[in-house]
Amino acid sequence: MKKLALHWKILLGMVLGVLFGILMSSFAEGKGLVQDWVKPFGTIFINSLKLIAVPLILGSLIKGVSDLKDISKLSKMGGKTILIYILTTVMAVSIGLFLVNTIKPGNSISEKTRTELVGSYSQNTQKYKDEAASQKQSGPLKALVDLVPDNIIGASSENKNMLQVIFFAIFFGVGLILIPESKSKPVKDFFDGFNEVILKMIDLIMLAAPYGVFALLASLIVESPSTDLFMALGWYAMTVVLGLFLMIVLYVFLVYIFTGKKPKFFINGISPAQLLAFSTSSSAATLPVTMERVSEHLGVEEEVSSFVLPIGATINMDGTSLYQAVAAVFIAQAFGMDLSFGVQLGIVATATLASIGSAAVPGAGMVMLVIVLAQAGIPEAGLALIFAVDRPLDMCRTVVNVTGDATVSMVVAKTEGKLGKPHVKDWDDDYEGKKI
Ligand code: ASP
Repeated sequence: MKKLALHWKILLGMVLGVLFGILMSSFAEGKGLVQDWVKPFGTIFINSLKLIAVPLILGSLIKGVSDLKDISKLSKMGGKTILIYILTTVMAVSIGLFLVNTIKPGNSISEKTRTELVGSYSQNTQKYKDEAASQKQSGPLKALVDLVPDNIIGASSENKNMLQVIFFAIFFGVGLILIPESKSKPVKDFFDGFNEVILKMIDLIMLAAPYGVFALLASLIVESPSTDLFMALGWYAMTVVLGLFLMIVLYVFLVYIFTGKKPKFFINGISPAQLLAFSTSSSAATLPVTMERVSEHLGVEEEVSSFVLPIGATINMDGTSLYQAVAAVFIAQAFGMDLSFGVQLGIVATATLASIGSAAVPGAGMVMLVIVLAQAGIPEAGLALIFAVDRPLDMCRTVVNVTGDATVSMVVAKTEGKLGKPHVKDWDDDYEGKKI
């Protein structure tokens, strides 16, 4: 019998997880059973992915930068990458604003539903406001200061400080370029081998992906809030999902225009990373798989993917910025506020910056939304309105975040002459169970 491809296996795991979650929700003890006996496997799976993130960034980025052999190439590629990231984010916010102003989902929220939603979720939103407040209290150059760690072990010890790890890896790679080859060769060889080991570890982790996503989705279903509130927010959720879908269409189009690669090629190549992004709601946890897919299945040379993707996972969040724009205007509409054109332009700027500042973990987009709301003068209590559907939307926006990173890496690779043929190492064979 022909073995199923990885993305089908993951999809099957997701569907069975949802069904199992629904089934268990109908028993009184079901929720507890899933939380005690199924959820831990999901947590183990996510932890194993996160475990790989720091060594992966260190290994692949040091190797990638030192392979460039020339500092000017690095700064050219860096500038291009950041510029394209910002452009795609601005496009995403604009699409979001266009849709929310056309569909006007906030107008369908009745006074009664609004009071009910604000009442039932106001406690939860306080936590988000506090977190956002602490982020906001910093000076204008805080982001720059935060980029440079004072201790690399400290920076690597927390998965939150990915940008610091990236900084160290690039800096180290630059040092490696500048020393004589006789000295740099053993170090480069070491990181070469180190990188291969990490990639093999990702292969092994991915063998467990179908089971991991089963556990994640089953526990998500038993823990999700009641569906009534969910329905009330249907139009809002649909607006976000429609915008996110348009972004995926845009990416496929951009990849086709810039690289000539067909939609099927792109989607087939990146789909396991998308499914994982959906199940984990975290671009950071998905990063190892995104890197593996982009370099081995989409043909982006490691020199580019190892540089563009870790940076993208931390700063490029098109899905998040689109969602923040829709959510902000939706809340304003629900409170009967009319937002002027100037205020909406302000939302473009703040949502772009807020998405850059959002951590690549579940729920981070909502924390930063507080800042967008405050800037536009929209009541922060409105966060409670959208709380019920935030997790499913987080899952969808993370898919877009990850796809956006993959798209930009392909475009950058093409313009650098570094887009080759896919070179699936033993990845697929591993999944077909032939090797390992
Ligand atoms: N969960 C998203 C990510 O990791 C961030 C967010 O929008 O909350 O990409």
